[in-house]
Amino acid sequence: MFDAFSARAVTTIVLLWLVSSGLQAVQVVNINKESSGIVLGKSGQILEDASTSLGIEALLNGGAVWVASDSSSLNPGFSHSAWWMRFTLLNGTETSLNKLIDTQTAIADYLDIYIVRSSGAIEHFESGDRRPFSTRPLHTRSVVVPVEFKPGEMLQVYIRQSTWDGLHESVTPSLWESELYSSHVQTETLAFGLCYGVMLAILVYNLFIYFSTREHTIPLYLFYVTTFFIWSIIFRGYAFQYLWPESPHLNNQAIAFSSSLIYTTVGCFTIRYLTIKEFMPRWWYRSMCIITGLNTVVVFIPLAGFYALTFAFQIPVGIMLVLSAFASAIYLMPKGVRTAYYFMLAFFCVGLGAAMYYLKVLGILEANALTEYSVQFGSSLEVLLLALGLADHMNVLKAEKLEIERKALATQEKYTFKLEQDVLARTQQLEAANQRLENLAIRDELTGAYNRRHFNELFDRALAVHIRQNTPFALCLIDLDYFKDYNDLCGHLAGDDVLRKVTACLQEQLKRANDHIFRLSDLFRVGGEEFALILSVTRPAQRCQDFVESIREAIEQLDIEHPGSDKKVVTASFGLLILDDKSGPVTAEEIYSKADKLLYQAKSKGRNRVVHQSF
Ligand code: GH3
Ligand code: MG
Ligand code: MG
Repeated sequence: MFDAFSARAVTTIVLLWLVSSGLQAVQVVNINKESSGIVLGKSGQILEDASTSLGIEALLNGGAVWVASDSSSLNPGFSHSAWWMRFTLLNGTETSLNKLIDTQTAIADYLDIYIVRSSGAIEHFESGDRRPFSTRPLHTRSVVVPVEFKPGEMLQVYIRQSTWDGLHESVTPSLWESELYSSHVQTETLAFGLCYGVMLAILVYNLFIYFSTREHTIPLYLFYVTTFFIWSIIFRGYAFQYLWPESPHLNNQAIAFSSSLIYTTVGCFTIRYLTIKEFMPRWWYRSMCIITGLNTVVVFIPLAGFYALTFAFQIPVGIMLVLSAFASAIYLMPKGVRTAYYFMLAFFCVGLGAAMYYLKVLGILEANALTEYSVQFGSSLEVLLLALGLADHMNVLKAEKLEIERKALATQEKYTFKLEQDVLARTQQLEAANQRLENLAIRDELTGAYNRRHFNELFDRALAVHIRQNTPFALCLIDLDYFKDYNDLCGHLAGDDVLRKVTACLQEQLKRANDHIFRLSDLFRVGGEEFALILSVTRPAQRCQDFVESIREAIEQLDIEHPGSDKKVVTASFGLLILDDKSGPVTAEEIYSKADKLLYQAKSKGRNRVVHQSF
């Protein structure tokens, strides 16, 4: 059994051994059963081997100059040297302990981990992502080695990192209790799964949105999120673990390729998402395109097998892109570009996530699930916020489209209304013109009475109704007496005036709708002092006769002086034919001729009288 005394004795011996191997300044990390999640870096020492030729035996022989590590990580960055980190662990208990050391890197190229026991025995683990995944001591995404501590045992752990072509990854060794590590991995897998799940859900959702809207920003967004998603599973080591465990070089090419592609997709997406082409100066838009183009060139470097070179180019052009994207968002926010707000908020989340993670690494924030996976949470929030911004952008576009449609419709309605008004006005004008034409066609120019053409029409119509319905009607022919003399004595113009006065007198007498006055001048010849009346007749026929007699009197009573007449005033003679039944003449010619004969009789009997006949 290993009692307390023996433990102290062994410790003393080991310390002496450490002193002899040049480890005066080393801090010993005292561990017990509960020790878990302990970051070892700050208790360790670092050595740069520029020749890359130093082996563990040479180092154990002493002489190399180690420096105390001031960080929890071994993070040399660009360097062609091999880098070593070592630390000393002491099992301060009297029982055996089984611990794990997690290097917390999935993608360091060559990792050699040596466990040097006080007995001089050395365990060597060779791994890293330039070696097949099967070299991993444990089947974990990062390189993890098991360490068994005997009671009171002190041992040293040496970690050597070397690279393929000069770019180191950050190695942050931490010590775990085996069982607690499993639950740590479970929590980690859950956190990653959650974030990847959110990303995948948003991807699929936006894919469907794209199919229904065809909004061109969405494919760029999908391209960006997909690239980020792929890079993330490669960078975290899941792709190497599950997709291509036997292809280390492919894994490294995929890391460099996917991380470069992220910048290209971010560039394309940002230009479109922030509407840089529309709202920023032309030269700025062109510069953003050039920077994105430069990032695209970087994508091809890893395909030629250069890993470190890829990042040597990617870092400056990537920073240029990120800074110009931020500058664009800051410029566009006051201009009311809403996606700029979402953009800033989204990348603020990523920034906050990264800041929390590094503050945890520096020991300023407490290590917990939130600070451990803050980068993942930040990225998921970013993806979500950008998607919200996209949805908002589409809403804005939709509202703008509706507004344009509404305006177009209003304009169209306005013009349609105006057109209708114009058409209506023009139609009214045409109707009035037609009416005028019609009037001109049926009226006598001098007196305004109907002309002979209209007489023929209405006379035929009245005759047809009379024949069909047996309704009585009358035709009355009127001829002014001695009118030739009047013209000769008083002048033709005075004669015209008489014709107008007589017409007005007749119009005043005839009130019924079916009574019409005509002046029977020849259509093509000027003049005519003969009038005709078509009269609707109410029985008995005597009434009609009396009515015409009253017309005759009315003309006489106009009292128009006529020097050539016996009566000394203008008078007229009337031939009145009343058709009460069908016993009389039935053709228009017969009727007209009969009325004309009656008029002739009136003239012969001394003029200024009505001669009538009824049938
Ligand atoms: P009677 O009593 O027998 O009818 O004698 P009259 O002189 O009226 O003879 P008649 O009816 O044959 O003469 C028609 C005259 O009417 C001839 C012409 O001078 C006159 N007259 C016809 N048309 C017009 C017209 O448009 N204006 C004027 N001022 N006179 C007209
Ligand atoms: Mg690598
Ligand atoms: Mg006459």
